[in-house]
Amino acid sequence: MSGLSVFSPGRDCGFCPRLVAYREEYRSLHPDWFNAPVPSFGPVKARLLVVGQAPGVNGANRTGRPFTGDVAGRLLYPALAKFGFATGTFQERPDDGLELTDCRITNAVRCAPPQHKLETSDKNHCLPYLAAEIAAMPDLRILLAIGAKAHHSILQALKLKPGRYPFKHGATHALENGLALADSFHTSQYNVNTGRITQEMFEAIVAQIRRSLT
Ligand code: SF4
Repeated sequence: MSGLSVFSPGRDCGFCPRLVAYREEYRSLHPDWFNAPVPSFGPVKARLLVVGQAPGVNGANRTGRPFTGDVAGRLLYPALAKFGFATGTFQERPDDGLELTDCRITNAVRCAPPQHKLETSDKNHCLPYLAAEIAAMPDLRILLAIGAKAHHSILQALKLKPGRYPFKHGATHALENGLALADSFHTSQYNVNTGRITQEMFEAIVAQIRRSLT
């Protein structure tokens, strides 16, 4: 981390009893899985921060790397690689050797929620970690929200009014603090299967971010 540090939750963070109970259930069911708050991935001195909603229980909760192990990363990582934010080949495993360049990935909520459904209390409890994550990135220029919930958590973490910046897929908001916030529909299996988001649509957003950082 080049001397920088981020205030991150410990493996047994207990602020969300509902999520802790779910985590404990999975620790019993699958003791070989990660089953803990999923740490952020990528350099702190990056200009781009990708923010997801929460780990999937069979994805990042299993593997310990954001957007890794289920369908959610299948659009994200190849698009990042295509536009120079990642090197290597994404193989849905944390040991696939993929590295991020000028990009970091985190989640608004670090623990997997049951049925992948977040409650307001989950987001509120985990907000200090997201705020710390953003504050610890000295070169940050753009945040990419993967889904409306991530968008709202980012605004909350930055103490900005959501009404001023409505979520819209493909939009980039110039925030009053000088950062930019780009929006994408979530890259979930449901959204991919229903055609709500495609590789082409997602790549268009990453391409726009690349252009704005050059
Ligand atoms: S979701 Fe965040 S605040 Fe809640 S238990 Fe996990 S790490 Fe802690």
